[in-house]
Amino acid sequence: MTVTLESVITCPNCGHQAAEIMPTDACTYFYECTSCQTLLKPLAGDCCVFCSYGTAKCPRFKSKRAVAHKAPIWGFLFALSVQL
Ligand SMILES: [Zn+2]
Repeated sequence: MTVTLESVITCPNCGHQAAEIMPTDACTYFYECTSCQTLLKPLAGDCCVFCSYGTAKCPRFKSKRAVAHKAPIWGFLFALSVQL
């Protein structure tokens, strides 16, 4: 099974597009546009910037811990705990 880990993020501010590799072990909650330096955050109901602005949703919705995605703040805290 192949999971697409690359997603093209489109900046809602300047329209700049950048291909980014999505991490499989944590959500990308903040993303800084490489063109205009706007700090992107997920839209309400989305767990990460890839879900809100990317061409591909983040891969973690398939994981056993998908429950952490139900509420963005919990997904964010969970992502933090994973990285610690
Ligand atoms: Zn931008």
